[in-house]
Amino acid sequence: MKSNINKLSRINIQNLSPYQSARRIGGYGDTWLNANESPISVPFKSRLESFNRYPECQPDHLISAYAKYVSLLKKEVLVTRGADEGIELLIKAFCEPRKDAIIYCPPTYDMYAINAKIANVKIKEIPLFRDTWTIDLCHLKSNLNGVKLVYICNPNNPTGNIICKKDLINLLKITFGRCLIVIDEAYIEFSPDNSMVNFLKEFPNLIILRTLSKAFALAGIRCGFTLANEDIISILHKVISPYPISTVVTDIAVQALKKNQIKNMKNRVVTLNRNRIWLVNELKNIHYVKKIFDSHANYVLAEFYRFEKVFQSLWEKGIIIRNQNHKINLQGCLRISIGSEKECIRLIEELKNLSKT
Ligand SMILES: *Cc1c(COP(=O)(O)O)cnc(C)c1O
Repeated sequence: MKSNINKLSRINIQNLSPYQSARRIGGYGDTWLNANESPISVPFKSRLESFNRYPECQPDHLISAYAKYVSLLKKEVLVTRGADEGIELLIKAFCEPRKDAIIYCPPTYDMYAINAKIANVKIKEIPLFRDTWTIDLCHLKSNLNGVKLVYICNPNNPTGNIICKKDLINLLKITFGRCLIVIDEAYIEFSPDNSMVNFLKEFPNLIILRTLSKAFALAGIRCGFTLANEDIISILHKVISPYPISTVVTDIAVQALKKNQIKNMKNRVVTLNRNRIWLVNELKNIHYVKKIFDSHANYVLAEFYRFEKVFQSLWEKGIIIRNQNHKINLQGCLRISIGSEKECIRLIEELKNLSKT
């Protein structure tokens, strides 16, 4: 029986390579620079004692708190189990299996493709222009047949660049009345001026994904948000599970969205942006670093000579970074999350040691 179980699963699931989540990769690191997490843990305590009741599906005080943070109305905000659940719910709600398609622009975040594959929804890849990582609007425009959702990651993971507002507005205009544009702003706190939140009023086809996992330092609680006009949010209410957010998660997320905690988050962002600038400058002095891509987030992508040796040597030293070599246009590239000052210094020291060997 055991050997046949795989054959019982859906064909698309049999063929699926799962997401390489940071904790699935393994390694015995003490310096985790592979998942763009916050290097600093912010201590929160749940003040709750009673858990016998189900939570609200969309806890009102959490929705209020996030709506206030982004200056939107409550009915324009959906809270989800991480931004990842937002990616999934949109496909569930809008894409007909085997018929509809999504577009995304690689190299980018893997979960758009993985969720489409799980749902048996078609995929159209429109690669970003190499090195500048801008959107190929012409190519995209001529591929809109059957497309319901276009996923754009901004700042883009793993390249770190910003997709400029002009291109995003053009994209919203090109696709107006035809399909929805989903802008994944998981890292937007590191470059807040580039948010498209203020365009939600103007473009009813715009959807924005947000998370508490990166700048808010709360990857462990799994809390994200989908921002869109009321009609889209109402559709998502139909497909979300009845109790997606646990009572404890809500309690901690609400604390994190208090004024003084938002201020603390912004201070951490300043520190991490400063660490990134330091790290980039140091990387420039290392002779086997071939190219460093300009980043506006809490990670940096670089192309290395002998990238495999670099990755492996760091791994053996307990410094775990992310290999991006398998992705389109990223041959020889590694992505490094920005850690604490100490972690950045340690990384550079190991890279310098390596250049002596
Ligand atoms: C980390 C990340 C997410 C996932 O966020 P969660 O809220 O932790 O699910 C979504 N999109 C991008 C681009 C990310 O890098």
